[in-house]
Amino acid sequence: MEWEIVMGLEVHTELATKTKIFCGCSTEFGGEANTHVCEICSGMPGTLPLLNRRVVEFAIRTGLATHCDITRKNKFDRKNYFYPDLPKAYQISQLYFPICRNGYIPVTGADGAPKKIGIHEIHMEEDAGKLIHDAFTDSTLVDYNRCGVPLLEIVSEPDFRSAAEVIEYLEKLRAILQFTGVSDCKMQEGSLRADVNLSVRPKGQTAFGTRTEMKNLNSFRAIQRAIAYEAERQIELLEDGGEVVQETRRWDDNKGISYAMRSKEDAQDYKYFPEPDLPPIEISEETIERIRASMPELPEQKKRRYTEELGLPEYDTSILTSEMAYVKLFEATVALCDSPKDVANWIMGEVMKLLSATATLPENMPLTPEALAAVINMVRAGKINRGTGKTVLEKAFCDGVDPEQYVAAHNLAQITDLSALRPVLEEVIAANEKSVSEYKAGRTQAMGYIMGQAMRALKGKAPAQEVQKLLHEMLD
Ligand SMILES: [Zn+2]
Repeated sequence: MEWEIVMGLEVHTELATKTKIFCGCSTEFGGEANTHVCEICSGMPGTLPLLNRRVVEFAIRTGLATHCDITRKNKFDRKNYFYPDLPKAYQISQLYFPICRNGYIPVTGADGAPKKIGIHEIHMEEDAGKLIHDAFTDSTLVDYNRCGVPLLEIVSEPDFRSAAEVIEYLEKLRAILQFTGVSDCKMQEGSLRADVNLSVRPKGQTAFGTRTEMKNLNSFRAIQRAIAYEAERQIELLEDGGEVVQETRRWDDNKGISYAMRSKEDAQDYKYFPEPDLPPIEISEETIERIRASMPELPEQKKRRYTEELGLPEYDTSILTSEMAYVKLFEATVALCDSPKDVANWIMGEVMKLLSATATLPENMPLTPEALAAVINMVRAGKINRGTGKTVLEKAFCDGVDPEQYVAAHNLAQITDLSALRPVLEEVIAANEKSVSEYKAGRTQAMGYIMGQAMRALKGKAPAQEVQKLLHEMLD
């Protein structure tokens, strides 16, 4: 039997606000445990939340960038559950009136045709604290620094049919969140987390199968592997006459397997009720238009501009706009050396090679636009050749050297004064009498050898074409 995989995604993203959603505590990642807390985010009785205006603005930006309708009358709700990472014993979220609804992100479908992945809703909520299980003392510690960090939950429709669609959607969503300044989307720090709901059904059937949910997958690779594993598990189970149980499963990326965590609770398992401490927020047409007008350039707009104004091929624009870090490096470097195609080539070639060789994430890019521009300008001006350019770039990337100083200190500059070539070539000719006479007798291949000796004598620092031209002049 042929099976179809059906998936939906719930993505949580931590917002790049300076302070938390309902208090003035810092949202900075990595502080000493329980130092970014106050009486509000630690849930002391008698305190009142005060909504951070930036959270609403970021939610609207995300909604506009994903073609959503913006809800004019917003309300918050309490999602009640008791867990040690949640000192108030409820999470302030939005159940009945989420701020954004009915959007989409375009991806490429299995047949290569464009396909829209629907966004059911986007809502604002607060993050919970972090539990740290200490095996050594057999105890669990809690860090409330993350308590009250603002989140957007972006809930898709069950429109995905392959892991490739899921990854493309996530890449596009991440680019949108980064480009709009809404989130840094560092998956390794948990600021972008994806839960995948997955079920399978015989191809052609319209009713959905029973789904499972995989929680907090924190890399694209883990997502891809978890999907492949879970689809296979469900299909095998059904083909053996078994049934899929609705449950939450945890993916163990080291072992490459998932296991059941708990049976899945539905919304009715939580006690939701309207949040009484926060007044409803009304969002006016003017506010939406003001935010629309101040939206930074989105990936698709940048792609178009790079093609139309800078003349870059579509392939280049897709790669450059896949990461905010590439865009920043590209735009700042172009401003310094005015040759977009050269900059694109160097980023897509050498820079990406260095990132991968040093296992550096693009957002931790150590290379400055000044250094990249200096290398490109020296190569373009013929001051150094391309091979030397690559060496210098690697030094700038790994050791932070100044490319111009490095070239001067290591005497790497090309010989630009062509009159300096002749005496060196005369020596080469004198030292290789045999090849020279062979060449003069009509064995043209001998020129290759003489050329090689000449470039060696010049330590590769002279333009090959000029050397060849001069040798012909001297020997022909
Ligand atoms: Zn606080």
